Amino acid sequence: MWIYLNGEFVREEDAKLSVRTRALNYGLGCFGGVRGYLADDGEQVLVFRLDAHVRRLERSAKILYLPIPGGWEVAHSAILEIIRRNEVHHDVYVRPMVVSGAAELAPVLREEDAQLIVWTMPLARYIDKDSIDVCVSSWRRTPDNAIPARTKPTGGYLNSALARREAKDNGFDEAIFLTEAGMVSEGSAEHVFLVHDGKLFSPPSTEDNLDGITRRSIITMATEDLGLSFVERPIGRTELYVADEMFLCGTGAQVTPVRSVDRRLVGDGGIGPITRRIHQYFQDVVHGRVEKRREWLTPIW
Ligand code: PMP
Repeated sequence: MWIYLNGEFVREEDAKLSVRTRALNYGLGCFGGVRGYLADDGEQVLVFRLDAHVRRLERSAKILYLPIPGGWEVAHSAILEIIRRNEVHHDVYVRPMVVSGAAELAPVLREEDAQLIVWTMPLARYIDKDSIDVCVSSWRRTPDNAIPARTKPTGGYLNSALARREAKDNGFDEAIFLTEAGMVSEGSAEHVFLVHDGKLFSPPSTEDNLDGITRRSIITMATEDLGLSFVERPIGRTELYVADEMFLCGTGAQVTPVRSVDRRLVGDGGIGPITRRIHQYFQDVVHGRVEKRREWLTPIW
């Protein structure tokens, strides 16, 4: 595979990064995750919301004093070029990262150490189930004032990994984090939506979660295209237990229905009508079947 590292496209086996990097030793960096979908013609690959992903990476990098070397345009074109160089004609995931490449002691953030890395892999499904059982994690989400989830921080995913591990060990598919204040934050790599009395609900990004691109896109699709009502407000733990429908969303998860929370069935345990509609519409949009949402897609070929 071709990857991008430090201003060059190199073969993955030739890429070198010191074991001493602050990126590895202290988790100093931030990343993004972008998806490309194989279009219905079986040839074209459509990258979903590339501009929004690169803008978010730029903002994350700004918070961490690690500006994207070369700026926004370099990251944007490196992502497209990586897909082209690898001759991708399938569903694909691309991971841009901005990390501290300094190989020195002490956790120090310096603008001049910022390095841009882009790699890619085929990805069909991130969650390999049609509907999942989730739990509320005993781990709390790292507060914005500690390790800001908003930055999609490399080191911050230890928090996600601990919650996932606990969930799997207890027989669940995924974990939902609460904030330190006990309100619903997000999953280990997904946002949370509930349906209650026909309305959609989701907590704002001030609940220590990422400013999600899938989440924002779903809000736009639901309210502008599907005529659904949406309410953004903090959500309490027990609201999860009485939701009529619930789903998680994200670049990896796409739209993943939730069957149960802490062993309580969501609705009757089936996939609810609003979740099903959003799931289908989302698939239509990302595959380029919805004319008005084509502006969200960047064709590769
Ligand atoms: N929360 C976290 C912690 C994530 O890592 C992700 C995946 N990027 C999401 C939510 C979903 O965000 P997005 O829709 O922007 O991929």
